[in-house]
Amino acid sequence: MRAAVLHAAKDIRIEQHPVEPLAAGQVRVQFRAGGICGSDIHYYSQGRNGDFVVVEPLVLGHEIAGDVVEVGSAATGARVGDRVALYPARTCGTCSYCREGRDNLCPETFFMGSASKRPHMQGGFQELLTVNADQCYAVPADLEHVYAAFAEPLAVCLHAINRAGDLKGRSVLVTGVGPIGLILMMAARWSGAGTIVVTDLVDEALAAARRLGADEAIRVGDADRLTAVSQGLGGFDVVLEASGSPAAVDTAMEHVRRGGIILQVGGLPGGTVPIPAFRIMAKELDVRGSMRFTRAAFETSVRLITTGEIDVRPLLTDQQPLDNVAAAIELASDRRRAIKVMVTG
Ligand SMILES: [Zn+2]
Ligand SMILES: [Zn+2]
Repeated sequence: MRAAVLHAAKDIRIEQHPVEPLAAGQVRVQFRAGGICGSDIHYYSQGRNGDFVVVEPLVLGHEIAGDVVEVGSAATGARVGDRVALYPARTCGTCSYCREGRDNLCPETFFMGSASKRPHMQGGFQELLTVNADQCYAVPADLEHVYAAFAEPLAVCLHAINRAGDLKGRSVLVTGVGPIGLILMMAARWSGAGTIVVTDLVDEALAAARRLGADEAIRVGDADRLTAVSQGLGGFDVVLEASGSPAAVDTAMEHVRRGGIILQVGGLPGGTVPIPAFRIMAKELDVRGSMRFTRAAFETSVRLITTGEIDVRPLLTDQQPLDNVAAAIELASDRRRAIKVMVTG
């Protein structure tokens, strides 16, 4: 079977890999759709994602939907023919984090398409995937795979929203409206947020945010407008930082209200980054991180996509076959032309 393997920055090769027999509890899933994520773009363009460096061949992809084609012995809950969204993590299930429902922090996590550990954990951009049965979440047969694959990025956003606490009536600033920023905005709206304002550098992204329900979309650099809006609100109750840019952290700390909450969702550059940290004390800020998502958030995500309560369809701008994954990643990194690009098989 074919697999798209990253060997180094800008070097993805389509290779033939053997199909191994299934172990007990495992399921074989035929790849049908995989979203290209910011982390895939980082790995492809720079050979690293923050502090995670690609040092051996890595199959990218963790936003995956497919069809169950083979079920191993003792694999319960999945049936041949199921259309599934894949929960991309395997956790130990027994550590203190797993037991407290913070399984996204499990130190034993295996996460598809990540170089955070050695050996690297291989991802989903391959024709046939071997997963545990409990990673398969069946979706209705009339939900297209390309939409089912949004379960992963929506779960990222639902987890971040959970970390921010009750958003009902709260004013929210989203810094950076790539796919995650846009979905954060939609998730914040779904959870009852009040005024939602977004910022970005790219006009096309701002236009998409307006179409998808932002109350105001402000270009980075229009500091007067952002200041006027933020002062009118008495500062934002919550800032969802989705750009991964240190400058946006500066913006967040300036425009969050005293006692407000900043959620770091975007991946900042690796190493030490200067931020206006004095404000953490002076404004008594809650600065929180959001790392991937819990299984519970993924389950909610699958449900919201299935029911259409959160409509992800406008986010899909392009589809490319698996063999074109490099071109698909290049396209996904052009934010003037693309929001979410899916690889299909
Ligand atoms: Zn992702
Ligand atoms: Zn654990």
